[in-house]
Amino acid sequence: MNIIMLGAPGAGKGTQAAVLSEHFGIPTISTGNMIREALKNGTEMGLKAKSYMDEGKLVPDEVVIGIVKERLAEDDCKKGFILDGFPRTIPQAEALDKMEVDIQYVINLDVSDERIIKRMSGRRVCENCGRPYHLVNLKPKKDGVCDDCGGTLVQRKDDHPDTVLARLDVYHKETEPLAAYYKKQGKLVDVVGQDDVDETTDLILKAIEA
Ligand code: AMP
Repeated sequence: MNIIMLGAPGAGKGTQAAVLSEHFGIPTISTGNMIREALKNGTEMGLKAKSYMDEGKLVPDEVVIGIVKERLAEDDCKKGFILDGFPRTIPQAEALDKMEVDIQYVINLDVSDERIIKRMSGRRVCENCGRPYHLVNLKPKKDGVCDDCGGTLVQRKDDHPDTVLARLDVYHKETEPLAAYYKKQGKLVDVVGQDDVDETTDLILKAIEA
């Protein structure tokens, strides 16, 4: 099964992608995590992406399209995958269509801007493996420490309040039109994102396994 997670930054795409990955036994491809990883490793692409990312802007289409294309060609994607954070613009969606991968569902997580701003302030991420957490909704077993790898949990620079507003603005302008794009293709599944992670997962599974 090939799935796209769509929705505003902070709507819970990453968290739900992780749950669905485990449920279906398929990998999550998160362009945000791949770019952060490249930055950590000091690659040319990572350094180029840094200024965009820090300001809450989108990295140029050709850069992300290139990394997704390479990643989808890897063996573990053959049995299915979940795209988290890609596509984010119409040109990215058109490029994905040309990659000839058959997407079954585009899950559009609907959460209001107001809720997102509230949620983002509690968001934390493992600085080592990228696993997402939340101070209220998705706590680690031990405060400040990743359950999976023991890494330290930190607040991403782009989760700071000013950057969140910029990211929401970009989302409404560039990414929201993708809902209509995929509705036209008959792939859109609208799900109202709940504050409780398990409730949202139930809604998604009911919608796609029905
Ligand atoms: P995320 O972790 O998905 O919220 O992504 C963090 C940041 O990485 C975004 O604010 C963008 O700067 C960049 N990024 C991730 N995915 C994309 C994409 N598909 N297109 C452009 N920029 C992206």
